Amino acid sequence: MVMARSVPKKIGILGGTFDPIHHGHLALAQAALEELGLDEVLFVVAARPPHKPDLRLSPFIDRLAMVRLAIKSEDCFAASDVEVIRSGPSYSVDTLQDLRHCLGEAVSFFFLIGLDAFVDLPSWKEFRRLPELAELVVVHRPGSEQSIAAAVHDVFGSDVESHQAGRWVLRGGGTVREMVMEPLAISSTEIRKGLEVGEFEEDSLLSEVAKYIKKHGLYHRRQTPDT
Ligand code: ATP
Ligand code: MG
Repeated sequence: MVMARSVPKKIGILGGTFDPIHHGHLALAQAALEELGLDEVLFVVAARPPHKPDLRLSPFIDRLAMVRLAIKSEDCFAASDVEVIRSGPSYSVDTLQDLRHCLGEAVSFFFLIGLDAFVDLPSWKEFRRLPELAELVVVHRPGSEQSIAAAVHDVFGSDVESHQAGRWVLRGGGTVREMVMEPLAISSTEIRKGLEVGEFEEDSLLSEVAKYIKKHGLYHRRQTPDT
């Protein structure tokens, strides 16, 4: 794992495939720094995401390199390769435990997640343990119709003990919080689709990342079993 500087007290954890990293990820991290008063946001690059087929994923080393390029001028952002060290699928519950082990008990964790990913939580390994390991911070994502409040009830059901001002306390400990940020309709899927046909949305990607993609020939149309 790579940390930018000495261990801070409040850390945001933003897991993703970052294939490629874009302005939506950076805006989410920046909003969390400001809204939650974080000391640092750690971009955890998913090594073997259980929900995304390997064949469609760019190599870990390229995704990590693009994250490093995108955050290099931000002192409060750091990239983590913690998931590549473990074997098998990259489960967030294991990642949070590994990070806790590395960073110690004195640090507070805030697990940053978009609504599209949050609604899938019940399919994640031991998902009910996630809010015990880190405060869950959910942001709306353009394209997700549901409200965050409805999603929290769908995901945690009768485990929701109380709710006040965009913060839900769960039975047995743990909290989920809604964070408001300016919506940005950007996704890696749309960026990849554009790049496959040679189109590139300047507003979505950092130019350094766009240069890396070009230099390394990423996202040309790939042959996969279902294409
Ligand atoms: P893909 O389309 O390949 O799934 P993505 O754009 O969703 O890529 P991920 O790496 O899957 O990016 O996302 C990592 C995390 O960042 C997820 O929790 C996701 O919801 C969140 N996220 C990504 N883009 C945005 C955005 N534009 N606004 C808010 N959250 C976002
Ligand atoms: Mg996604």
